[in-house]
Amino acid sequence: MQRILIIEDEPDIGELIGFNLRRAGYEVLTSHDGIEGTEAALRERPDLIVLDIMLPGRDGYGVFRELRRDPRGVSIPVILLTARAQTEDRIQGLEAGADDYLTKPFSPKELLLRVKAVLKRSEAPTAVADFILGPFRFDRNSLRFYVDGEPVELTATEFRLMLFLSERAGQTQERNDLLRTIWGYSDSTHSRTLDTHMKRLRQKLGDHGSWIETVRGTGYRVMNSDP
Ligand code: CA
Repeated sequence: MQRILIIEDEPDIGELIGFNLRRAGYEVLTSHDGIEGTEAALRERPDLIVLDIMLPGRDGYGVFRELRRDPRGVSIPVILLTARAQTEDRIQGLEAGADDYLTKPFSPKELLLRVKAVLKRSEAPTAVADFILGPFRFDRNSLRFYVDGEPVELTATEFRLMLFLSERAGQTQERNDLLRTIWGYSDSTHSRTLDTHMKRLRQKLGDHGSWIETVRGTGYRVMNSDP
């Protein structure tokens, strides 16, 4: 059974999320405070965290940063909950590296859709050989990624995105196709999600960031030879 940790201080919303996730067959853990939530995440290592931004103790960004700094929390997928008016929150959250976000108020159906899509992205595939392109090596069994032989921490979403592009090196992938394939849905509000993920991927590749090419107005491409 997959375990989901909900960090949300508003009881009504926390209960609604918990109820719907339990009904869908997930084991649910809850926390109502940022500091306690961080501890619970690192101790329990859930399969997914639903993380509210406005929290007592430590806000959602703070929780997120703590998780990403700790080897026990670095690869746990996170869905951020943001308030409708807080567009800046959403952007900041995605730039910080959250896998997805939900804007309050959201429907239980929407929540389940996101949860399933994020969990699916994090699942390790059945044993397959490493995929290698130039300086990049993808261990598809453990979702570990190496650049010039050195491990680089990628979230499951970043790993899938980079692998998808690298397996199709030299071919431009359209924005909508990337969103549909990696996130499981595509609409205009998620354009920003894609761009922030690509930006962060480039940063993580360091000197090799130029392997990723932006094809203006169309999408992205990974080069098929050293750029
Ligand atoms: Ca809150």
